Amino acid sequence: MGMVGGGPGAFIGEVHRKAARMDGQVEFVGGAFDINPRKSKQMGKELNLNPKRVYKDYKEMIVKELQLPDGERMDFVTVCTPNNWHFSIAKDLLDVGFHVMCEKPMTLTTKEARELVKIVKKTRRVFGLMHNYTGYPMVKLARDMVNNGEIGKVRKIVVQYPQGWLATALEKTGQQQASWRTDPKQSGASGCGGDIGTHAENLAEYITGLKMTHLCAELTAFVKGRKLDDDANCLVKYNNGARGVLHASQVSVGEENNLAIWVYGEKGGLEWHQEHPNYLSVKPIGQPTQVWKRGNDYVTSYSQAAGRATRLPSGHPEAFFEAMANIYLNFTDTVKARMMRVKPDSLVLDFPDVHDGLRGMLFLETLVTSAKSKQKWTKFKK
Ligand code: NAD
Repeated sequence: MGMVGGGPGAFIGEVHRKAARMDGQVEFVGGAFDINPRKSKQMGKELNLNPKRVYKDYKEMIVKELQLPDGERMDFVTVCTPNNWHFSIAKDLLDVGFHVMCEKPMTLTTKEARELVKIVKKTRRVFGLMHNYTGYPMVKLARDMVNNGEIGKVRKIVVQYPQGWLATALEKTGQQQASWRTDPKQSGASGCGGDIGTHAENLAEYITGLKMTHLCAELTAFVKGRKLDDDANCLVKYNNGARGVLHASQVSVGEENNLAIWVYGEKGGLEWHQEHPNYLSVKPIGQPTQVWKRGNDYVTSYSQAAGRATRLPSGHPEAFFEAMANIYLNFTDTVKARMMRVKPDSLVLDFPDVHDGLRGMLFLETLVTSAKSKQKWTKFKK
């Protein structure tokens, strides 16, 4: 494994480094960690890496890694830079034969996303997208329950992702994560929508297997002088006729990462909360609500995918690191299968990919178009 991004003081790079290695299958060998070459070297030292494999930028990394023999060279590279870099770095890596794990949102525009779909197809490399919330066992259980018809035809989906950390002009203090997230050149056309709205969209589509078709949206920048939205509210239509509400916010004071989803079908409902990820509420019609708890035999025997994504016995909580490790487990097993020229089974192929990335970008395009429009209801482009 190599990495681009994740330098000193970065947020998600270190989470990737820990999660990818949780199952002992991955060796982390180097990278180009920071936009500042000096800081990239500093990160390499902190990580005790071989200095020869700590690069000043990703272009040097590609050239030097390609000179190494098979088996020594990086097999895959994780891209965890701000959004504006994802496309060019992923493209350059895929074009010369590396498999790629990329952070979300996948690109800055749908045009880039469509191009990346073509590049992945052409190069036959494995491409993973880090929508880590679909790595939770109870999310996989929910997906399997919907798929098995447990709650009947889905009618309504409510999904939310409120945070409160951008309720003040944090970007004006120079705070690293706030600075680029509020800059359209680095973040994209929507701030809050791109940063966390795409996670909500991906979660709803993953659990239900449905596709959003139309949005009626409003985007607001509450904090004075902020160029991008910090609050997003939308009504949603799905391809089976279901209706929904999706809201995401970074000015919901007091909220941390309150991602949650409610799915209602003709025969029952499901409810899951990211801040309490080991539990899934199941609400069969006319019966008391059940709370299914991760790690129990009744979960692993119902859902093979949930079982594969479980490491600890029930009652010992698993959370953010484990969910990301589950995405890595399936991604790296797929990379290994590709190298050995065998076909992975559907349990292994259960990780977000370039098509999910395109869905995320179509969601953002529709969100922004609807928010700017007078007629409001806006159809997803194909
Ligand atoms: P960050 O600002 O904390 O870190 C970004 C790092 O990338 C910095 O070290 C920076 O120097 C480096 N960088 C920038 N351009 C580079 C380049 N061209 N080459 C090498 N390094 C470069 O940002 P973050 O919060 O870690 O977010 C990074 C990405 O991860 C974003 O796309 C964000 O949307 C995504 N993210 C995803 C999740 C999740 O739950 N999946 C959570 C947080 C962030």
